[in-house]
Amino acid sequence: MNPKTLLDDYEVAPKKSLGQNFLHDPGALEKIAASAEIDPQDTVLEIGPGTGALTEFLAPLAKRVICVEVDERLKPILDEQLAAYPNVWVIYQDILTVNIPALIQPDEYIVVANLPYYITTPILSMLLESAHKPRRMILTVQWEVAERMIAKPDDMNQLAVGVQYFGHVQIINKLKPATFWPRPNVDSAVVRIDVYDEPPVEVPGERAFFRVVRAGFGQKRKQLKNSLGAGMGISHAAAAELLEQADIDPRRRAETLSLEEWATLTRVIAAQ
Ligand code: SAM
Repeated sequence: MNPKTLLDDYEVAPKKSLGQNFLHDPGALEKIAASAEIDPQDTVLEIGPGTGALTEFLAPLAKRVICVEVDERLKPILDEQLAAYPNVWVIYQDILTVNIPALIQPDEYIVVANLPYYITTPILSMLLESAHKPRRMILTVQWEVAERMIAKPDDMNQLAVGVQYFGHVQIINKLKPATFWPRPNVDSAVVRIDVYDEPPVEVPGERAFFRVVRAGFGQKRKQLKNSLGAGMGISHAAAAELLEQADIDPRRRAETLSLEEWATLTRVIAAQ
């Protein structure tokens, strides 16, 4: 049923602070569920089921759907909407406090979520850095965030390096504000991230890699020898030396580096 009608019936007002923009276009919901390529043996984690509009498309495709919803006001609606699906479980908790491996292991899982935009990045970090990563994720995010995720060298950013280190990312669909109720004031995108079994580049350690990347992006539009030097607490000359050893011109800027170049730089730094 239409989310607005349901929320009106149950006298629940959408909360902007929880990123509550509900998708009401059945075509868009069906496309999201289809792009997850769910098999009957799959476990799906849905973050923020809301009124269950997307859940109803996922439940018939999967072995089980585990939903995590922070807003307990939605419980009576979800109880009614999902009553026909015994393979759906809803947990009322903040996703950022859920121990996902404990919830899902030993199964593999797929994440499908029309994300609450205010916590897109923490949710991505939590899932991708977890010891028990999803196999694939279909996420609705702000259009501008999706563009940052798929950025290429010359236009790279920390989010792109972070996501592309863990998986192959592509934009599946663009969603206009009118697809949601209430309407957000930005366009949205459905992105698909296929998580790698192994990272595409060789690094001495994930922590070391992301420390170098953070340092490099620490000062916007500065030459790498300056930003890296400041971020790592070493002189600009020492940073320039490390960059040259990694075959990277110290005058380049962080947004021009490829994943492979960040990995090479991390290996050089770790070898010191
Ligand atoms: N899936 C529904 C749909 O597609 O219409 C609702 C999507 S709405 C953009 C985001 C949902 O995430 C809301 O139901 C909201 O209550 C929930 N949410 C917000 N913050 C959350 C959190 N920290 N943990 C779990 N769910 C959260």
